Amino acid sequence: MSKAESTRKSVPGTIAMSEQEWRSKLTPDQYYMTRRHGTERAFSHPYHAEKRAGMYRCVGCGAPLFSSETKYDSGTGWPSFYAPASEVAVSEYEDRSFFMRRTEVRCAKCDSHLGHVFPDGPEPTGARYCINGVALQLDSSAKGDKNSV
Ligand SMILES: [Zn+2]
Repeated sequence: MSKAESTRKSVPGTIAMSEQEWRSKLTPDQYYMTRRHGTERAFSHPYHAEKRAGMYRCVGCGAPLFSSETKYDSGTGWPSFYAPASEVAVSEYEDRSFFMRRTEVRCAKCDSHLGHVFPDGPEPTGARYCINGVALQLDSSAKGDKNSV
């Protein structure tokens, strides 16, 4: 059993944990990003330039979120993908904070804040999922193959 597997719940649906449970499960950085809707500094996380193949999993619950197959270099300094790993991997919410209208992206399973999605990405979707590296954990054993999700 891999490390990622051991934190995965076998039951479908969402995971509800108290703030205290999240605090003890996550590092302070991870907690701030995923539960307090933080945004890491551009180019601060090595995943923005990560080239290894694999599945980027949720740091909160281990759910597969983004495949390396859809990762591209957006030049923004954040890990960027043009599509989530599956249609049910992430949920999207309108975010009107900071006087901007953006679409927030969260893990569909545990509601961790991941980043935002913008409509200026490459083909075939035209979407740019701009994700905090801290919210992700690359599982390079999964090879990014959607069939291994
Ligand atoms: Zn999650």
